[in-house]
Amino acid sequence: MSIRTRFAPSPTGYMHIGNLRTALWAYLIAKKDPEGVFILRIEDTDQGRLVEGATDVIYKTMEQCGLKHDEGPDVGGPVGPYVQSERVKSGLYMKYAKELIRLGGAHYCFCDEEMINAQREVQEARGESFKYDDPCKKLTIEEAEARIANGEKFVIRQTIPETGTTSFDDEVFGHITVDNETLDEQILIKSDGFPTYNFANVVDDHLMGITDVVRGMEYLSSTPKYNLIYDAFNWEKPRYIHCPPVMKDEHNKLSKRNGDASFQDLVAKGYLPGAILNYIAMLGWSPEGNKEIFTLDELVQAFNVAHIGQSGAIFDPVKLTSINGIWLRNMDLDSYYNLVKPYIDQAVKGDFDKKAIAKVVQQRADTLNDIPGMLDFFDTFPAYDNSLYVNKKMKTDETVALEALKAGREVLAKEDDWSEEHLHDVLMEIPKQMGRKNGQVLFPLRLALSGKQFTPGGAIEIAHILGKEESLRRLDLSIAQLEK
Ligand code: GLU
Repeated sequence: MSIRTRFAPSPTGYMHIGNLRTALWAYLIAKKDPEGVFILRIEDTDQGRLVEGATDVIYKTMEQCGLKHDEGPDVGGPVGPYVQSERVKSGLYMKYAKELIRLGGAHYCFCDEEMINAQREVQEARGESFKYDDPCKKLTIEEAEARIANGEKFVIRQTIPETGTTSFDDEVFGHITVDNETLDEQILIKSDGFPTYNFANVVDDHLMGITDVVRGMEYLSSTPKYNLIYDAFNWEKPRYIHCPPVMKDEHNKLSKRNGDASFQDLVAKGYLPGAILNYIAMLGWSPEGNKEIFTLDELVQAFNVAHIGQSGAIFDPVKLTSINGIWLRNMDLDSYYNLVKPYIDQAVKGDFDKKAIAKVVQQRADTLNDIPGMLDFFDTFPAYDNSLYVNKKMKTDETVALEALKAGREVLAKEDDWSEEHLHDVLMEIPKQMGRKNGQVLFPLRLALSGKQFTPGGAIEIAHILGKEESLRRLDLSIAQLEK
């Protein structure tokens, strides 16, 4: 049987990094199987939490990431509808809940908040965790249905065996056994007729033929209850892959509510979707060997559920930045140029060769948002202090610098071929002739041309981009400043 996985986000208006990692892992598990199917299901039954436009964020994120679903609300498929609120309209969950009641796995409940809270208070005062002991369980189905016919409000609750245990195997957390008496008889259908997640996930995963349920480990403790529902229906249970949490630090989960970055925030900060996926794939999963840079297709090949760990993985923005930088440097120049042109245009208004600028920036920028700040010296020649010429590592001081600038000025003034290759040839001759190290000439020249200690590109690239006239003008200004 081919693998079928699903990503089942609730539309909240942003893509949480932990959720995106769940989507990615579910995708990888499906795609590892050549026949595998990856499904998108929108879980929007919590009507109180609905956010306008939120499903569009989900579609857009999936598309930006290349996580293409084979079945889903927008592309259709054989087991739709793929939006839970549409499934509610067809009466499907109610039908299965009533079936479950007949099978003994659920019951009607007419209790009001007051009765439930009264029990809660007593139990919590005893220091027990709350578990509702529902007197409605004693009603026959006919009695209950008569009350419903009379217009009484009701919910449907799961009925849990009072004794015995329930066990299952999780692919990540191993064999888990719980005593049934610890499981609460959760609500499956609310008084508004909508299913809870606790019921809808089981019905939908079954009807959609999901073979591997990939989801956050917050659902691990409820899984025995879901399995009791599968058993009551005599449905085959899926494999479970509960994912360890993505952490902000040792004690706190990464959460948008605490102001932590969502996928959209990271993209806005200049990270590439591919690099984000590459990084988050490894939050809690370790590839074999030392390879760290993976395209999505390479992840499909490399991913392996057995290498998912149980402990929470800390989201490290520094690591993400370094992976992003590698992704940027791995791009061919044409694609890179197309990507960064808006960032260059933002910082450089003058008539310079923007592609040449892209080429130097590519070697330095780890995120797209770093780019404008690196290019502030093209349009205007910034004021700088002569003390910057004093550099131990480069073995330069003001005297060495002045000598280098004068030599550079003299050589460049004679040149008409301003190609990078030619500038390279003529400038590299200078240190040889002066008996200096390359850095003793090229570092002062770079500073004299840019006014900055750190720049993308060296003296040769910068002179090439600035052009002859502007290069000589800046050298003259810098020489005058040193001679003062
Ligand atoms: N809608 C649930 C969530 O966003 C889905 C959990 C699941 O994958 O089953 O957490």
